[in-house]
Amino acid sequence: MRFNIINKSDQNFVKLKPLINDFLPFAKKRIGFNRPPTIHFSSDKENAYKLLGKTAHYDPQTEIIVVYVDNRHPKDVLRSLSHELVHHMQNCKGQFDFSGGLGGDQYAQKDPHLRKMEKEAYLLGNMCFRDWEDDYKKRYKDNYQMYVTSESIIKEIENQQYEVESGDTLSSISGKFYGNVHKWPLIYKNNKSKIGNKPDMIDVGLNLSIPPVEQWEKMSESEKNRIYSKSRFYKKFDGTWQPVSGDMAFRGPESVEDLGSELSLDSNILTSTGNPSRDAVAELAIWGGRKEDDPELAERLAAMWRWCGWNQVTPENANSFSSRTPWSAVAISWCFRSDNDFPRSASHTDYMIRARKNRRSGANGYQLFTPEELNYSYEPNDIVCYIPSNYGKYHCDIYIGNNEVCGGNLSDTFAKNKISAKGRNNPGLINGNRIRYIIRKTTSSIKEWKNQEVKRLLMEKFNIGNKEN
Ligand SMILES: [Zn+2]
Repeated sequence: MRFNIINKSDQNFVKLKPLINDFLPFAKKRIGFNRPPTIHFSSDKENAYKLLGKTAHYDPQTEIIVVYVDNRHPKDVLRSLSHELVHHMQNCKGQFDFSGGLGGDQYAQKDPHLRKMEKEAYLLGNMCFRDWEDDYKKRYKDNYQMYVTSESIIKEIENQQYEVESGDTLSSISGKFYGNVHKWPLIYKNNKSKIGNKPDMIDVGLNLSIPPVEQWEKMSESEKNRIYSKSRFYKKFDGTWQPVSGDMAFRGPESVEDLGSELSLDSNILTSTGNPSRDAVAELAIWGGRKEDDPELAERLAAMWRWCGWNQVTPENANSFSSRTPWSAVAISWCFRSDNDFPRSASHTDYMIRARKNRRSGANGYQLFTPEELNYSYEPNDIVCYIPSNYGKYHCDIYIGNNEVCGGNLSDTFAKNKISAKGRNNPGLINGNRIRYIIRKTTSSIKEWKNQEVKRLLMEKFNIGNKEN
């Protein structure tokens, strides 16, 4: 069941949306209505300041629920919604048919039947909300900001307006509204006459009309690609447009010690084991599942960004910056901080493009391989590259052994993932996404490396040759 939602309020809908997304299917089951109502979120400035102002109402004729959202906590908004959904269920069962609807002063006292319906709405509505809340807390451990990355069941049918603020980019706005920074071509397409030919440059104060994210699926691949090609932050890689950071000119300080003195960081933050995959394991322990908005992690996040040359990020703004801008790639550069050969970038594709170039020219250092070329066998310090289906662009993690990888910005923390379904001739899956490439450091040219590999295989499989030759 899909719900028609119209956000008519001036509130930022972004925080409420994932909660509603989660709540509605639950409420449908619990309350048991059989067709979707239309839900309006509304602002009513005068009403908001009245102590006993209306919080919500339901119209059985049009099946529209209106919920006022001004100055209300998201939980309170959902509780009201829950109440009105009970009225909607009553309507679906025909209980409003004779009564001419809710409304009028003290109707609940005057009409015993309506009074009974009202009682049910209070009891069932509150219980439904409470059960959902308990369940939600269990699942997300009190993290109310959690983004729901599964497909939205909310069909927003009207565009929202947004005024560009200082520091915004089309991709950050796309992240804000759609939970994905790469869907900005949809916003660009809708506001092309205002933005002009350069999507990388938008003026502060510009009023943008933000279409519902559902329209992204309706854009053709060629249309999306045409728009990506206008940005200098996207490059074609294997036939798809992937984000790059341009020329990688911003490299950050020469050494971690320089970084430390720049920020006057605790030296513990800078400590490295001298080995990337061991540093990644250490990083896992330091994060311990805490989310990117944990104040204690602010210095650490700032260090990651600044290591890659993002000097605008400070311990003060690191958490909020990282909630808007994907930091998985800087986390990888950070884990490789003991090796100055490793590229520093906020884009995974940057690593991949550079590694492919090294591979083609036979240069030493980090090179790009297909899993097949490595006989589907991975080693600690390898970087595995795949395209998460809910993200649509390349993402990389660090292989730490035992079919495990870890990386940054996974569910807003630094986390571990398992490689599944890996076999003799199968590169394996991470969250159901096929591993497509491996970045591995080789100290020999590709020709030498191939010779070594042939020798190794001959040794291993046929027992030909020995270690001395
Ligand atoms: Zn009621």
